[in-house]
Amino acid sequence: MSHPSTFTTPGVRQFAEEIDAERQRQLAKFGDQHHPDGTGNKSQQEYADHKRRWCEAAFGSGYGTWADILAEEVAEVEAERDPAKLRAELLQVAAVCAAWVADIDSRTTADHVCNSIMARGEMDEPLGYLICGMCGKRKSEAQR
Ligand SMILES: [Mg+2]
Repeated sequence: MSHPSTFTTPGVRQFAEEIDAERQRQLAKFGDQHHPDGTGNKSQQEYADHKRRWCEAAFGSGYGTWADILAEEVAEVEAERDPAKLRAELLQVAAVCAAWVADIDSRTTADHVCNSIMARGEMDEPLGYLICGMCGKRKSEAQR
């Protein structure tokens, strides 16, 4: 498969180069891997519906995060059985990762006003306190 010699989206070249380096580390550690997809069962499809509704609600309430977006996209991967559609969903996950990395790289700790998002743990369980969505610092004044 051919690939473009130039990247049009800011940050994507660096992202691709870093992915290439990580793939080399994976190949060195695990070798060439082949596994079943393990996707597309009914519970995975129901979970994808749940994560889509979760993400819509999060952004609808003004508290959406990159983690919400990525979780929705990963759930869509897990829900897909058709190989061509599964491949397309995996590329969407990679594109979200590229966008998230670019956003992180665009930040400096000094140039933002902290916002508030609910800190979450395993299975998106609220942890009972707020953190800044930009720098990740705990907002002690906003503890619940
Ligand atoms: Mg998707």
